[in-house]
Amino acid sequence: MVLVSLIVLLVGLPVAAAEGGDGVTRVFFGSRAQLAELAARLDVWEVVYAAGRTDSGYVVAWVTEQDAARLATAGVRVEADRRLATAPETIPAYPCYRTIAELYAQLDVWAGQYPLLTELYAIGDSYEGRPLQVLRLTNEATGLDKPLFFLMANIHGRELITPEVAMAFIETLLTGYGRTPDLTWLLDHHRIEVLVSANPDGHVRNEAVQPWAYWRKNANPTYGWCDGTHFGIDLNRNSGFHWGGASQYPCDETYQGPFAVSEGETLAVQGFIGSLFPDQRPAGDTEPAPLDTTGIFITLHSYSNLVLWPWGYTDTLAPNAAELAALGRKLATYNGYTPQQAVALYPTTGSTDDWAYGELGIASYTFEIGSSLDGFYPPCSRYDALVEPNVRALLYAAKVSRAPYLLPYGPDALDVTADVEWAGEAQMMTVGAQIDDRYNGGRPISGAEAYVDIPPWEGGTPVPLVPSDGAYNSAVELVGGTFPLSSAISGRHTVYFRGRDVDGAWGPVTAAFAQPVHAIALAPAVLVAAGRPGAQITHTLALTNTGLVSETVTLMQSDTRWPTMIALSSVTPSSVTLGPGAVQPIALTVTIPLTVAEHLVEGHVVALDTVTVTASLSGTTELVRTAVVHTHALWASVLLPVVVRDAVPITAVAGRSPGFWSGGGWGR
Ligand SMILES: [Zn+2]
Repeated sequence: MVLVSLIVLLVGLPVAAAEGGDGVTRVFFGSRAQLAELAARLDVWEVVYAAGRTDSGYVVAWVTEQDAARLATAGVRVEADRRLATAPETIPAYPCYRTIAELYAQLDVWAGQYPLLTELYAIGDSYEGRPLQVLRLTNEATGLDKPLFFLMANIHGRELITPEVAMAFIETLLTGYGRTPDLTWLLDHHRIEVLVSANPDGHVRNEAVQPWAYWRKNANPTYGWCDGTHFGIDLNRNSGFHWGGASQYPCDETYQGPFAVSEGETLAVQGFIGSLFPDQRPAGDTEPAPLDTTGIFITLHSYSNLVLWPWGYTDTLAPNAAELAALGRKLATYNGYTPQQAVALYPTTGSTDDWAYGELGIASYTFEIGSSLDGFYPPCSRYDALVEPNVRALLYAAKVSRAPYLLPYGPDALDVTADVEWAGEAQMMTVGAQIDDRYNGGRPISGAEAYVDIPPWEGGTPVPLVPSDGAYNSAVELVGGTFPLSSAISGRHTVYFRGRDVDGAWGPVTAAFAQPVHAIALAPAVLVAAGRPGAQITHTLALTNTGLVSETVTLMQSDTRWPTMIALSSVTPSSVTLGPGAVQPIALTVTIPLTVAEHLVEGHVVALDTVTVTASLSGTTELVRTAVVHTHALWASVLLPVVVRDAVPITAVAGRSPGFWSGGGWGR
């Protein structure tokens, strides 16, 4: 069969669907050019190549009975696809696929449940007026100017697994924040925006009891009513970068619209992406974006088990083809899909990912989720198997969104561990990790480092780690180290690990939490209060168990000269038992004698008592925390006679309490 006959045949098709007899059909092709022609007109669900070939095979497509007859007459081999011949007229009620209303209700729940981590807003409306809902995920307390990952799902209505993957990704991040180290730093230091459905009208038509099984396009009938069952514009052929090579026939499933960006959904998505990311690529088709480009965009489709990157509109390699392929292949290690340039499936013009990369230079990908056995409506038994590997791939994308053209070349830090113990006033950290370049180019590791609490991009101080076998010389190295912490932070630490290969490529960080098993804190370290002679002054300290297990803490006071009482008990030592994380207020009451030692300080007469409070873990001598409590007697007037009767160590006290003389409400 010659190409010309195929084009003429398809162009000549009537727009109205035949009465009955439509079905899922295999249409065979014998060249890449024929495949391209079929893909431009037919609703191609899947491309199946002949064994060992990429230029012949068949497409699986929804074909009307009339189309099938014309194709067959023209000599094109056409067969009913027995496997899918029983495709439903309407979607059955799959309990695992939420309706648009249910998806949006869950977004509302999360927005209410996680107000500090989320922002829910609409970026526009669908043709039928449904909002295009975006959930922003980031710790808002640390700002919004962060590396960005934009995830979009469901631009094709019938691809029902795609919003579910987006929802699972959101849920993983929100429920893991504060518990899982990587999910915590991701939301603290990165920003993730998720458009759960770019085509809610199309999704609704695939919901239970709706009479529109396999609806793909949007719901705009302006350019053709198409029997009421095939109208709409293919939103993934409507974007504004090299628009114009897809179907011009409104009743085709790949109808590109009357002009580029003709649809409100397309305009909203392009406007939103343009507002998120700076333009980092020079104009034209041949100039690459710089290697330090920031930002990733992934659009979720189904099905074909593919990870695709630009270009889709041409066989020519994208200017950043090497970098796009490096990250694409890495993402495919998580979901097990075939990574390839988008055009290798078949040519597509006006797609969102070509636009995002072409206009802005950001790393852009399409995932085609699921196999031909899954189809557009995978059985619920396949739900987890389709969702979980893709969530893992999306998490990796989020981790490298700071520099998607650099970080995937660097090794992964895996199996990270961090343990910290107090040793007197210092903390000793012991860390370990596996630095692994096997899925990042397979080059030998040349170094690894850890950062405590402050990650590399915030200017943290690296601690070099050493290989356990004594030499950096292979693609997988076990590394470790033990070092004192300069930071006096108590409680939980975040330790960031990263490795470098011999080409100098650093991989993304992987984090571990570390918290001392035994640890207590007594705060503040210095307390100052004042009163007139005869008064009872109550100071309050906070004793916290910052460790991981319950502890009995012994409290003592020393050095006091005025009557002093620790509230827990009138006798010392006293003790208190605290669970992990528990805070116990410690009230210390000092009675200022009517006759006290006096000083003249800056025109005021004062007298001073100092108590040192110690808290120690029963059974250890190393974990002792102290606080110093100063109590002053004061007089209002400098006219009183001044008699210094005691040599109170004023300067020593001042040295421990910088704010001591400068005010604080006891005389000025
Ligand atoms: Zn799709």
